[in-house]
Amino acid sequence: RAAAALAGYTGPATTRDGVPVPVLANVQDGEGTRLAVAAHAEGVGLFRTELAFLGRAAEPTVEEQARGYAAVFEAAAGRRVVLRTLDAGSDKPLEFATPPEEANPALGVRGLRVARRDPGLLDRQLDAVAEAARRTGASPWVMAPMVATVGEAADFAARVRARGLVPGVMVEVPSVALLADRVLQHVDFLSIGTNDLSQYALAADRLSADLADLTDPWQPALLALVETAAAAGRRVGKPVGVCGEAAADPLLACVLVGLGVTSLSCAAPAVAGVGARLATVDLPACQEAAAAALAADDPRAGRAAARAVLVRG
Ligand code: PEP
Ligand code: MG
Repeated sequence: RAAAALAGYTGPATTRDGVPVPVLANVQDGEGTRLAVAAHAEGVGLFRTELAFLGRAAEPTVEEQARGYAAVFEAAAGRRVVLRTLDAGSDKPLEFATPPEEANPALGVRGLRVARRDPGLLDRQLDAVAEAARRTGASPWVMAPMVATVGEAADFAARVRARGLVPGVMVEVPSVALLADRVLQHVDFLSIGTNDLSQYALAADRLSADLADLTDPWQPALLALVETAAAAGRRVGKPVGVCGEAAADPLLACVLVGLGVTSLSCAAPAVAGVGARLATVDLPACQEAAAAALAADDPRAGRAAARAVLVRG
């Protein structure tokens, strides 16, 4: 049944009992956005802006950036676009933005932290986003990666709002999940990056194959942080999505919905599988599966318990 639904998936995604759960796509350029729209993504949930500039020695001009961002806004053709400011550093070093050598780059100057050394880089990027929005008539949401404190969220939100854009932050550091209520006093949405959130919650390098069991997105501690952030969003009526790889696993996507997240964003080829699976489950089953996965002692048991609830018959 799920296979038949997958072949015919055309969005928008809802659970079987009719709860809308937008399934968006992770993209890096206009062409990828066109493919995402063709795959029936309801928009872009994560536009990774740094990927276009890997290997570049010099900062791209505001005009070059504006053209690149406008290409994505145009291709999205009125659908939601969540643009992430440069996530430079660690696994994505940018020569013009990040320090050449750090002992622990994953714990170093990466993401929003680059703005401590060079606030102009962030301001120029936000100017470019605002210009691209003006040219295309788009209303992008703009979020920062690697935020760790309420103060960082407040400072970022002020810069984004000053340009008439909608601010949010990624939940990649456990501190932000724990203080999500206070972060949400400053921003309009949260987007949970499960790839980094699991790395930082389990203290295990996301690039280490030896530690893949620890960074498994079914880890109950990761799911508990997702639940904390989603509950904070519910309390104030602000969206809390997931844009890490966890959202690409159709079963886990149902669990995330059960934990309270309001949208999912994954690679374009995964959109149909997630949307098709959501159409086979009711929200109460997602909630039951989420409770079972949270209560499990390890990822394997959690997945089995969730599967038993979600895939009946
Ligand atoms: C994440 O950390 O989950 C995320 C979506 O960002 P990236 O994979 O680009 O670090
Ligand atoms: Mg990340």
